[in-house]
Amino acid sequence: MHKESDPVTVEGTKETLGFQTEVRQLLHLMIHSLYSNKEIFLRELISNASDAADKLRFEALASPGLLEDQPELKIRVVFDPEARTVAVIDNGIGMSRDEVIANLGTIAKSGTAEFLGQMTGDRRKDATLIGQFGVGFYSAFIVADRVVVETRRAGLPEDQGVRWISDGQGEFTVEPVSRPERGTSVTLHLKDDESGFTESYRLEALIRKYSDHIAFPVDLQESGKGAGDPRVVNSATALWTRSRSDISDDEYREFYKHLAHDFADPLLWSHNRVEGKREYTSLLYIPSRAPFDLWNREAPRGLKLYVQRVFIMDDAEQFLPLYLRFVKGVIDSSDLPLNVSRELLQQNPELDAMRGALTRRVIDMLSKLAASGSDEDRASYDKFWQGFGQVLKEGLVEDAQNADKLLKLLRFASTRDASGAQSVSLADYLARAPESQERIYYLLSDNPATARSSPHLEKLRDRGIEVLLLTDRIDPWMVAHLPEFEGKAFQDVGRGQVPLPESGGELTQDALNEEHKPFLKKIRRTLKDRVETVNVSQRLVDSPACIVTGEQELTPQLRRMLAAAGQAIPESKPTLEINIGHPLVERLAAEINEHRFEALSNIVLDHALLAEGEQLENPVEYVQRMNNLLLELGGAVA
Ligand code: ADP
Repeated sequence: MHKESDPVTVEGTKETLGFQTEVRQLLHLMIHSLYSNKEIFLRELISNASDAADKLRFEALASPGLLEDQPELKIRVVFDPEARTVAVIDNGIGMSRDEVIANLGTIAKSGTAEFLGQMTGDRRKDATLIGQFGVGFYSAFIVADRVVVETRRAGLPEDQGVRWISDGQGEFTVEPVSRPERGTSVTLHLKDDESGFTESYRLEALIRKYSDHIAFPVDLQESGKGAGDPRVVNSATALWTRSRSDISDDEYREFYKHLAHDFADPLLWSHNRVEGKREYTSLLYIPSRAPFDLWNREAPRGLKLYVQRVFIMDDAEQFLPLYLRFVKGVIDSSDLPLNVSRELLQQNPELDAMRGALTRRVIDMLSKLAASGSDEDRASYDKFWQGFGQVLKEGLVEDAQNADKLLKLLRFASTRDASGAQSVSLADYLARAPESQERIYYLLSDNPATARSSPHLEKLRDRGIEVLLLTDRIDPWMVAHLPEFEGKAFQDVGRGQVPLPESGGELTQDALNEEHKPFLKKIRRTLKDRVETVNVSQRLVDSPACIVTGEQELTPQLRRMLAAAGQAIPESKPTLEINIGHPLVERLAAEINEHRFEALSNIVLDHALLAEGEQLENPVEYVQRMNNLLLELGGAVA
């Protein structure tokens, strides 16, 4: 089954298995970097117990027999100071032997290995990274040097219980046990210096802090010598069912951490009850930083669906568009049927309306922050943009309906801001553009350094015109979907002719070319296999030449990406523009030696391509031409 979990030894029915490599890495990193956050293990284990209870309740809708004689779902935390143990016990869904081996021996999230590969060894940084990953069950090993899990899957007979034991060092054992109780108990044998976690008041405070809002009662009970009666220590009402005015910000934050398995506070949330034709409650959160698998468009999404408080599914992807996949939260519907499935959801006519409303809620939440005048909010939004901006840009491609609102959320790097941060909004841009400027100028490029030194910016820079610098992977797609913003069209400064404000006096391309006809004819003939045409440039000041994209052509960035993805791209040659006043071009125009004219023309073109971030088709030829030229120069010097 799992390659790394092949049995190492088998004694009777007890098996010793090895953890998957990723689990070993995670365990190691966690133990070393989360020591200052160690109490979170309790939240993680109680969250798992609550999920297990949710799942059982859901399965019991179809098979009520699963509840056996224990229909009341609850969680118990039992501690024994003398034995130095804490146990989190649930009567939820439980696990079969195969499930135990898969769930507590491997990590199923895709991209895990790459993610763990980014760990630096710096504790603080790694702690943040691990927080983004979500540690879950394995966090038990931060405080325990031995963990014993006993579990029985609801519906399986008593003798199919399983005991799982590990010291978190690389291996675990599984063996069958007889287990009358359904569900799971996770017992932590605490490390020597962690006996503080067997203090009643401390456990109580932690449960209150982390798990108050969980829909199931959490009992706390001492066992062993000082054994006492269990008492419920949380309020056991699902947070989203309470009224907004009764919920403190801290409670909202803790609920988010439970829901998202995130260490960091959420950035924003929005809690709403919709009444009338459709009735549902939504509690939507925006995380403060991106999860490790944000780029995986297939990664599970963060919404949980409940129907009348009964958990129905995780990863309810139908309620928000893909570009809002970073949103976490809960939807609790009063009118969807309890037996709703993903397939039924897709056919549900109500769903489009709900999805539209939830999408607007998320956008409005972000818009409010983005438009806020306070420095603190501005900084928060910038941070949000850094983490999620590229994903939000997908919205312009996918969701034309909300384009106007999404445009206001965009942030750009710009020629006006040397920091290179993406922090300029379109409103900022227009506010400082002259009245007469009819367009919003942007440049597409592969990376910020190439963008900043692009020849296409020269004339605009001379004229003091701000240009937005677009270097994200998604940008070439996004710009194809940009509508106007406040009546101003977007203009790619690397494409076709670029109309500048108050430029009445400038000549048309044809008129410009006319003056240099013989020279152009000669260079066009020389480069005819490599370029569509050669024109006299109006956009250059310091550079001898640049590459321009035709009005209907794919941008070079898009061509490169499609090519890298192995896609067929239409054959097309670039247009070369030359700066007629540049000494090198003057030198070229004056060149009478055919051979040298050819070499120089090609070098001018090669350099224009290189400045664009392009790979030369024949770099060896370029190097030879350059070498010859240098040798000639050497000859001249000698
Ligand atoms: P996550 O909860 O993020 O999936 P964990 O490492 O915490 O990751 O748990 C892995 C899996 O183990 C869970 O998805 C669940 O299937 C199973 N699991 C953990 N704790 C329990 C429990 N108390 N009862 C049933 N299943 C559990």
